[in-house]
Amino acid sequence: MLSTELSEEFPSLKLKINGKRLVYLDNAASTLKPKRVVEKLKDFYYNSYSNVHRAVHTLASRATVALEESRQKFADFLEAKPEEIVFISGTTMAINLVVVSLVRSGLLKEDDLVLLSLVEHHANFVPWLRLSKFHRYRVAYIKPSGRFGTLELNDLMKWKGENPKIIAITGLSNVTGQRLPIEDLRNIFPKSIIVLDGAQLLPHENVKPKELDVDFLAFSLHKMLGPTGVGVLYGRRELLEQMEPFLYGGEMIDKVTLEDVTFNELPYKFEAGTPNVSDIVASKEAIEFLQEIGFENIQKKIKNLTKLTINGLKEIDGVEIYGPLDERQHGIVSFNLKGIHPHDVAHILDQEFGVALRSGHHCAQPLMNLLKEQSQMNFPNSTCRVSFYLYNTEEDVEIFLEGIKKIKGWFGR
Ligand code: PMP
Repeated sequence: MLSTELSEEFPSLKLKINGKRLVYLDNAASTLKPKRVVEKLKDFYYNSYSNVHRAVHTLASRATVALEESRQKFADFLEAKPEEIVFISGTTMAINLVVVSLVRSGLLKEDDLVLLSLVEHHANFVPWLRLSKFHRYRVAYIKPSGRFGTLELNDLMKWKGENPKIIAITGLSNVTGQRLPIEDLRNIFPKSIIVLDGAQLLPHENVKPKELDVDFLAFSLHKMLGPTGVGVLYGRRELLEQMEPFLYGGEMIDKVTLEDVTFNELPYKFEAGTPNVSDIVASKEAIEFLQEIGFENIQKKIKNLTKLTINGLKEIDGVEIYGPLDERQHGIVSFNLKGIHPHDVAHILDQEFGVALRSGHHCAQPLMNLLKEQSQMNFPNSTCRVSFYLYNTEEDVEIFLEGIKKIKGWFGR
């Protein structure tokens, strides 16, 4: 698809911010939505909407078929079985499900070791840490030894002999943009339950959990052109079968007596209550769109934009850029301007240049603390972050870099 055709698919790209064309560089937070996803939502609500898996009327059956077609789509996408695809509200909820269900089932017990990395998003940090207070398993952290938060293979290798019960790790850092060496995880941790946070990786790469030999993979559709409120949790069947559900209620049961209950088959035992039917159905449209464009094409384009941004920022004095700055860095560039708070940079970029980017701690405070230790400036515990998706252009990068240069000048730094 040509750039012009692509931009036609995204009406938000025509928005004006203070008279300037919107340059949307906050894709790691959430992407813009293509017409066809929004149209699908509308069409589904008007023509096929009903609750699912319950009634026998025509509309209910239409809605149920559409929901299960979406599940099949994600199963094919991940080369998994439909019963291994749990629909949930997003990555955060998916990881909470995994932690809670593992402890409830006794698969994660007192004194077991849970290994996390210091580059994790709070979604893959806080649930593990907080439940350790109640269930008394141990939590340890892999510290990145590379350039500004870069996790090297050696940092993982150091834990090889420790046999953690769980290793929970991101595929791509939402702060540094580093793509982690996830292909090596199974070799290093042959017996561990591997939980992969795919929130930033899956929008760029169609990884297959079975190829990687990971046990859980979680991601959110809103970061890959889909609607908000839909996440996918892939779980290895043998583990899901052993696991106690996270939520209890309707649809997830088989039989209910006054004494106890038995559970529905997979994956429904993990989908209590009315699912987010319409958004799940529209998510299929998002994946199909991405597949039509091709993940390799998307990657190639974004790699180029990432490189242009890094090179452009490197030429500006007083800019500190985080992450590896090499081919491992994909789609995300975090940086600071010496002496100017990231919120000020972000606000001026928005107001004066129409550039939308994120500033803050990016829900990764442990990583911010590490960056602070290594920073050559008075690090403000937050960064500016640009993040790209398939509709961004080289012109977007130019506008952004021009903005940064002007801001530097205005502040006299
Ligand atoms: N993990 C990572 C790496 C993320 O970047 C995010 C979102 N910023 C999440 C988890 C949480 O995703 P969600 O808010 O969709 O649950």
